[in-house]
Amino acid sequence: MDSAKLQRYCGISRNIEESFINIHPIQRGGVLTAEAKKVLLDFGDGYSMCDFCFEARIVTVKKPPVVDFIQDLAKFLDVDEVRPTAGARHAKRAVMEAITEPGDTIVLDSLAHYTTYITAEAAKLNVKEVPHSGYPDFLLNVEDYAAKIEEVEDSTGKLPALVVLTHVDYNYGNLSDVKSVAEISHKYGVPFLLNGAYTVGIMPVSGRNLGVDFLVASGHKSMSASAPIGLLGTTSEWAEKIFERSKIKGDWSGRTFGAKEIHILGCPPVFGPPLATLMASFPKVVERVKHWDKEVEKARYFSESIQKIDGIKQLGIKPKEHTLVHFESPSFHDVAQHHKRKGFFIYDALKKRKIMGVHPGLSKSFKVNTFNLSWDQIKYVVETFQEIAEQNGITVQ
Ligand SMILES: *Cc1c(COP(=O)(O)O)cnc(C)c1O
Repeated sequence: MDSAKLQRYCGISRNIEESFINIHPIQRGGVLTAEAKKVLLDFGDGYSMCDFCFEARIVTVKKPPVVDFIQDLAKFLDVDEVRPTAGARHAKRAVMEAITEPGDTIVLDSLAHYTTYITAEAAKLNVKEVPHSGYPDFLLNVEDYAAKIEEVEDSTGKLPALVVLTHVDYNYGNLSDVKSVAEISHKYGVPFLLNGAYTVGIMPVSGRNLGVDFLVASGHKSMSASAPIGLLGTTSEWAEKIFERSKIKGDWSGRTFGAKEIHILGCPPVFGPPLATLMASFPKVVERVKHWDKEVEKARYFSESIQKIDGIKQLGIKPKEHTLVHFESPSFHDVAQHHKRKGFFIYDALKKRKIMGVHPGLSKSFKVNTFNLSWDQIKYVVETFQEIAEQNGITVQ
């Protein structure tokens, strides 16, 4: 390898949060707090959280106070026990690995994230989807969970091994009716996993009140933490099974690892920045979920104002119940057909005005996330979109 060429890896830079208003659909909830940025360098080295680990698991570390933090996380999620994982997907994988057998079927919503399908595939499971209503609302009929559970039972002679619901989906930002699905799952005696990747850390979520057996969160999606980190919360009924301790023994050496939890792979691989930033952001995260109503208000204002542009229509539930907003934009698409920069004209125009996060090149539809933007920023983004429309001959009401 050419060592001079390798040097370019040392010069990578980003400079998004400092210089732009970022409206990227997956990034708003993961923007670090000032407190998290401070600990980032301090805990940047590989296994920096492990200086004073005496009980072979990171969740028992007292300096820094991870052990207390884990207790507070459980209170925050309103679950009996919680463990960090390397992301929401790893939390789902752990549950599927712990409580299903290859060949089992799980029932999931058809708006589920790809990682729900992939974790199911990795665990050699079959999936049964609960359909949605399609364009333009993409509404889940949660009552269909009952029918799908029965279909699985009829065709396989066995209840599904797990019911999965996405709290807010990544595509339309639709908020699901969790309690109904929890009730249906419990009526059939099927364990229920709620995927709160887009909710835990930005809006109030109580595992107990919602009646979930497994609550999954994403630190880098919604809790202002560095990737990769997620959370897996569960009830005391399930904790023993999900966080089962290792029993393996080396047949020659006799080595054992009884402190390690099998499905968490011994110790969750969040030994530095992921856990340090999650901790440092936590006080602000606890506070911000109390103001979720203000965030919804901003998202509604944003959606209504953007729809004043001719041909732009919000998809998903109306009015918005979440800050992830998806618009179809045939009028922008028409402009793109004749524009020398094609669909990139939107990205270019936004970037010039210091706004980032809209997918470069796409003009048919676009997604944004308004979470934690100030009213001034929201208004500036709205005005900018309206201005770009007018400059390209699209009427704004
Ligand atoms: C982003 C997202 C995920 C992936 O989360 P990771 O923490 O990156 O694994 C899973 N599910 C949903 C619904 C998401 O939006």
